[in-house]
Amino acid sequence: MRKCTVGIVGATGMVGQRFVTLLENHPWFTITAMAASSRSAGKTYEEAVAHKWQMKTPIPESVKNIMVFDAVKDVKKMAALVDFVFCAVDMPKDEIKKLEEEYAKAECPVVSNNSAHRFTPDVPMVVPEINPEHIDVIPFQKERLGTKKGFIAVKSNCSLQSYVPALHPLMDLGISKVLCCTYQAISGAGKTFETWPEMVDNVIPFIGGEEEKSEKEPLKLWGKIENGVIVPATTPSFTAQCIRVPVSDGHLAAVFASFDKKTTKEEIIEKWRNYQGEAQRLNLPSAPKQFLHYFEEDNRPQVNSERNLENGMAISIGRLREDTQYDFKFVCLSHNTLRGAAGGAVLLAELLHAKGYLG
Ligand code: NAP
Repeated sequence: MRKCTVGIVGATGMVGQRFVTLLENHPWFTITAMAASSRSAGKTYEEAVAHKWQMKTPIPESVKNIMVFDAVKDVKKMAALVDFVFCAVDMPKDEIKKLEEEYAKAECPVVSNNSAHRFTPDVPMVVPEINPEHIDVIPFQKERLGTKKGFIAVKSNCSLQSYVPALHPLMDLGISKVLCCTYQAISGAGKTFETWPEMVDNVIPFIGGEEEKSEKEPLKLWGKIENGVIVPATTPSFTAQCIRVPVSDGHLAAVFASFDKKTTKEEIIEKWRNYQGEAQRLNLPSAPKQFLHYFEEDNRPQVNSERNLENGMAISIGRLREDTQYDFKFVCLSHNTLRGAAGGAVLLAELLHAKGYLG
């Protein structure tokens, strides 16, 4: 099988670097083009990331000499070189929206990490284990854009990639309301302890825009396609508090949930252990074998021991117990820059490829 050629828009950033490392030996995708800001354009990738490479493994040889394009000015050049692009750029939202549409209109599909298009009604926001059927909205989006091949698909915010997977297998119990508090790593802000020393020995009780995303995005994930757009679900009701904690990688969530139907702890754990999504059924290369792992120990999941489970793509859950205000409470954990960012986008691209949307 011919490998799909891939471009990374925002290749020099934190998420962009993750894409580069994740795709190094990918069985289906190979990086053939890179783009970033005008500051990096015209340099080789190695030169452009010389002082900001943050991955634990070295820059892959195969990309070191790729010449970095200007993500905004060189859309057509990028589109001519690749089957599709991953996009993770730090720009104002309206500029990202426009940029991603320009790539799509240049007949270059965009798999995006950015939040700009998450609420565009005909743009699917997909977690492959949860709502793979939402990619069926793409033909309607192409019609609006006037494209044959180009479209935009996005992944959801990193904060909810632990608790929505845990809640999803419980939907048939009729989840009526959810309260969650997230404890989020500094890499979610594109930072390390070196670049954000104020976070050492500190907790910040505010992450701009995060609580709104954490409450609103799950409802789009659980929405339905109607008349060519995704209509968000109206239940369950969500309330969230999002807190920045001194952790490098790994978002933890403490979740409280109530159900319309009576249930037991054993039944919930059974549903988690048995759950398989489309990513597992299709055996996608980046899919975890077991999506949800339940831990019986009172002191797990922990960020350090569980965040890298199944290459950082699995979700860890623990401490399920009855609650006095809600029916049940539990904690869950996911790797924010793997499952929550680049890894989640690669898995989405694999789903799109398996369903014939790329290349
Ligand atoms: P970052 O480390 O600041 O990287 C930003 C990238 O955007 C760099 O490649 C940068 O190029 C490029 N860029 C900046 N201004 C540009 C411009 N005017 N034109 C073209 N390219 C420009 O940011 P990040 O943490 O990777 O995040 C990227 C996106 O992913 C953001 O939308 C963020 O919200 C989202 N995201 C991040 C995470 C996470 O865990 N970090 C998780 C989910 C989603 P230069 O190097 O040339 O400046």
